Amino acid sequence: MGVNNMEEWEQEVDSINWKSMLKEIDEALLDNLAVEIGFRTFAQLEEVSELVVDDYYICHLSDGRWVWWNPKEYTTKDPKFFSNVEEAKQFISDFLQLDQEKLRQLEEGLAQVRQTKKCHYCEYEFDQEDQKQKNFQLAQQGFCSEECAVEMQKARMKEEVNW
Ligand SMILES: [Zn+2]
Repeated sequence: MGVNNMEEWEQEVDSINWKSMLKEIDEALLDNLAVEIGFRTFAQLEEVSELVVDDYYICHLSDGRWVWWNPKEYTTKDPKFFSNVEEAKQFISDFLQLDQEKLRQLEEGLAQVRQTKKCHYCEYEFDQEDQKQKNFQLAQQGFCSEECAVEMQKARMKEEVNW
């Protein structure tokens, strides 16, 4: 790399919009969080999660587990997984030191959380209710998207040919 190119490169670096770059890093981190919990994107995780308090959210996965997560704490703390609603309730109740009345509210809130489905093809969690609005049949068949339904069909055809 010549001296001139180097200077050009430095100018380019100077002109990068750091704000938007930081935002991209944030988004990448949040997508990591989503994948760790079982979702393809952060937007999908957010969609099915209920805000409990401040930046703490809860969601209910297809295998029955509940997940307590916080986008702001993700860099220092992993999301917490519970094997059933009782465990989740116990943890939240202790964590927030809830009284009887608040505990009742929490129970009501948890009852509203939609359980997600696992896509037959990509195995990511998805919101079946939301998918039903877009494509009822696909949702019933357990596919998160048309792409996954098509890919599954292709895979099956391939299997038949090989057999
Ligand atoms: Zn899928």
